[in-house]
Amino acid sequence: MARENSVMLVGRISNPSVTHSEETESSTLTFSLAVLRSNKRIDYPRVAVYGVEKSKAYELYEQMKRKPMAIVKGVIETTLCSKTVVCPICGGKTKVPRLFTRVVATGIPFVLREYYTPSDFAEVSNNVKLLGEVCTRLQSRNGCTLYQLNVDRSFRIGNVPDDERHDRPWIKSFGSIGEEDAWRLSPGSVVYISGALQTRHVDRIVKCTNPCCEGEIKYPELYHEVITSRVEYLHNCDFAQEGYFDVNDSSDDCFEVFSSPEESGAMY
Ligand SMILES: [Zn+2]
Repeated sequence: MARENSVMLVGRISNPSVTHSEETESSTLTFSLAVLRSNKRIDYPRVAVYGVEKSKAYELYEQMKRKPMAIVKGVIETTLCSKTVVCPICGGKTKVPRLFTRVVATGIPFVLREYYTPSDFAEVSNNVKLLGEVCTRLQSRNGCTLYQLNVDRSFRIGNVPDDERHDRPWIKSFGSIGEEDAWRLSPGSVVYISGALQTRHVDRIVKCTNPCCEGEIKYPELYHEVITSRVEYLHNCDFAQEGYFDVNDSSDDCFEVFSSPEESGAMY
């Protein structure tokens, strides 16, 4: 299948860090990027830059400590992993599933040397394009539709062969696009999406796994989601002229596997 997973971001760098591997003789830079969009929303995607030559990495790190504006071209990477949280009542540890999402840069970020403000780039600061297959049942509520997209990787990250890796970012559509997604899409539908990467802090609550304890553990999580601005319905979609969807259809059985964004009051 054709592949597409591309992200272009312009924003202000914060919290840079650099690590060096003696084994690969290369360095990895990571940072957050504060991205302002024309709707005044600011998002804070995580970014990683792999395989940087050591002296170049430390030169970039010194520049990044000054919090410059930068242009980042990359791909969305998702990794299913677990996180350990501590119960405030019994002190026991509980492992929770977590979909770790970030942008992996496909080149060295371009650091802007002139002084620009985020608003100078607000119209063009956050662009995502994805081609993939819907891999969860859809959740639809009040014109908002949420699902995960299975995107074949076309960019080698680490030692993992391309064709063995997929990324599964969360996709969220609102308004007329959300309604159309809800009637046209189902697991297996193939879509081409244009949109923007949104981040959101959510307090998740899980039950303590200690059988002697009934405590609840609350912990913060940063969700990355792609908000659609355009959806092309390509294969295995419902191509009827008009559709119908049940606004109360809220299926979350797949979410336990992939770690779900909870729907809180302020979704956008
Ligand atoms: Zn406990």
